[in-house]
Amino acid sequence: MMNVDLRSDTVTKPTPGMMDAMMNAKVGDDVFGEDETINALEQKTADLFGMEAGIFCPSGTMTNQIGIKCFTQPLDELIADQTAHVYRYEGGGIAFNSSVSTRLLNGYRGIITAEMIEPEINAINDHYPRTSLVVLENTVNRGGGSCYTLNDIKPIADLCKAKGLKLHLDGARIFNALAKTGDKAEGYGKYFDGISVCLSKGLGAPVGSVFLASKETIKYARRVRKVFGGGMRQAGFLAAAGIYALDHHVERLKIDHSHAQILAEELANCGWVANVLPAETNIVLFDTVEPAAIVLDKLAAHGIKALSTGPNRIRFVLHLDVHPDQVEYVVSTLKTFEV
Ligand SMILES: *Cc1c(COP(=O)(O)O)cnc(C)c1O
Repeated sequence: MMNVDLRSDTVTKPTPGMMDAMMNAKVGDDVFGEDETINALEQKTADLFGMEAGIFCPSGTMTNQIGIKCFTQPLDELIADQTAHVYRYEGGGIAFNSSVSTRLLNGYRGIITAEMIEPEINAINDHYPRTSLVVLENTVNRGGGSCYTLNDIKPIADLCKAKGLKLHLDGARIFNALAKTGDKAEGYGKYFDGISVCLSKGLGAPVGSVFLASKETIKYARRVRKVFGGGMRQAGFLAAAGIYALDHHVERLKIDHSHAQILAEELANCGWVANVLPAETNIVLFDTVEPAAIVLDKLAAHGIKALSTGPNRIRFVLHLDVHPDQVEYVVSTLKTFEV
């Protein structure tokens, strides 16, 4: 039996090359702006996405919440899809950190359009919260790794400009979206006011996310990060893992995508599977005939760990630490698997 952990792309461990990069990092006190590895990671990521500046933070939750704080005032409202991580999985932080309400849309696998957003922008009137921000997620976690192309985003960015709204990207898996669509990262800078990029998902770093925005916004973001308790000191050891990941783990994401494709095709042949969503990137969502909890127990008995995202829905996530022989093992297990 093999052990295969398909619960999340956050379960990866640093590779030997990444560990070396971390051990050899030049560090300083980042609250004083003196950690050269962090400064390099921030600038490298900003340049990559065509943004002016960046700030390194402990988590993607923090980079999203800092973005929301930078782009709203208390009593404002933001617009996002109902599956959005910022709404569902950040502990109510939109309300707590920013005193902002949330207008949820019903997108298709988490993907929303300018046509859906426009009627939900509140008129300027004392009755209504002021709509000030739109948040997109790319890829969409609960959508099963569904993604926007830059062409899909352009009309939304145009609408936001025309209406004076800010546009933030939850790019926890932005590199998966880029690998899928072939879009250039650099193209994102002109559409978004803020971008959150996770290093600890598919890129395989142990910790860290970068929030990208204009120089002026990042200046304020540094203050917000301190208030949120995210000002770190010699965290260049962590930033070095991020730089290593950007240099070595981006190209390989398409391997995860082809692994997801292989598993999705095999699942479609399983009698105990009711439905498989298209595997666009590194996530496979499927619905089970029997309760997901029963299926998860049986998979676990074969050494395969996964998560349920609904009573009859299971998620497989492919990542750096799932090797081709493990994918073969899962396929051969599924071929004889009975529920
Ligand atoms: C994982 C994730 C985040 C950030 O999560 P952290 O665990 O706080 O780093 C943000 N958005 C999406 C869509 C995610 O999947």
